[in-house]
Amino acid sequence: MASVNEHFLSLPGNYLFREIAQRVEHFKAAHPGAQLIRLGIGDVTRPLPRAAVEAMQKAAAEMGEASTFRGYGPEQGYGFLRRAILEGDFAPRGIGLSPDEIFVSDGAKSDTGNFGDILGTDNRVGLTDPVYPVYADSNAMAGRAGELQPDGRWSRITYLPCTAENQFIPALPRERVDIVYLCYPNNPTGTTLSRTELQRWVDYALAHDALILYDAAYEAYIREPDVPHSIYEIEGARRCAVEFRSFSKTAGFTGVRCGYTVVPEEVEVSTADGKRVSLNHLWNRRQSTKFNGTSYITQRGAEAVYSPEGRRQTGELIGYYMGNAHHMRSELLRCGLEVYGGTNAPYLWVKTPDGCGSWEFFDRLLRDFHIVCTPGAGFGPSGEGYVRLTAFGTREDCLEAMARLRKGL
Ligand code: PLP
Repeated sequence: MASVNEHFLSLPGNYLFREIAQRVEHFKAAHPGAQLIRLGIGDVTRPLPRAAVEAMQKAAAEMGEASTFRGYGPEQGYGFLRRAILEGDFAPRGIGLSPDEIFVSDGAKSDTGNFGDILGTDNRVGLTDPVYPVYADSNAMAGRAGELQPDGRWSRITYLPCTAENQFIPALPRERVDIVYLCYPNNPTGTTLSRTELQRWVDYALAHDALILYDAAYEAYIREPDVPHSIYEIEGARRCAVEFRSFSKTAGFTGVRCGYTVVPEEVEVSTADGKRVSLNHLWNRRQSTKFNGTSYITQRGAEAVYSPEGRRQTGELIGYYMGNAHHMRSELLRCGLEVYGGTNAPYLWVKTPDGCGSWEFFDRLLRDFHIVCTPGAGFGPSGEGYVRLTAFGTREDCLEAMARLRKGL
């Protein structure tokens, strides 16, 4: 009989969102007339930018004509999109990359989850806590995380707590880590790192031969000038960092699926006998074998995001969500709550009042205000005592939810 990858058996169930769904269902059954407002979702709600829709319609029409039909494309992405990415996302920030360093994909979840394929299982991994769960779970699947302990931590992962006490700035690890995942602007806390703080991480990685896996899925939400959009704005990062990007939250592509990963030629990892090998070549090899490219239609849609109309329309989209975030932040502060994030990110990380637990405050918001949030404890032990609210809802829902809280909290 075939045997199982035992590491999958040690994974915790997807407890967080199942538990939220159960509590919401239970509440709805008991209060059928309640007008629930969901501020827990991490999915966008606005339609796609017109420029992307039209580009995809045109591409679909091309696929229906013998003269313009396309079959399999390059696994790494079409040249037109890789060039648009370089010119649109990096050149204006003074970052020089070559198209061969860009790998187009079906999104940052796949890439952050799959990247471990090319990394040894003996690497010690560092994760900020709270954290986007894909980093922890994908390392556990690969056998890199050790045993799951009763406190919800994995025995072989080094946790870097991010709380109000350290202004959500992770301290450099005291023990050696080989790989560290950083996500800025951060999901779930909505906080960012300044240039100086990110430089500390790059310097650490260079000094310790560590690899930074930098998730910049929310960079388009950055509003303040001192916050880096890309890790490659930081000196030395080309030698130690891989960057993940996504069109999901930038251009509403959560259902279309497109993202990309930057793997600079200089980043290297070592073999068991101490030789250095290029990560770019390994990722290219992995993608060419296991991935058959993002659809042509999708890539044309992503390319259109960089056109003048695409930029204006995505700017409006992000402005809409950030308008929500701004309103939520100021109203929550007026309610006397401690609020983080929401300035350079669509997430607000709210300290629960009076020492109330994450789940307890979740229940209170549901019961008293008919508002659904996400308990911070679901993102890691340091998330206990916080809840996450997202700005991805409609403006009407956002205004109504804040009015309810202002009246009742
Ligand atoms: N990275 C972070 C930090 C996220 O929060 C998300 C989605 O919520 C993703 C990656 C996934 O992005 P994609 O839709 O491109 O797979």
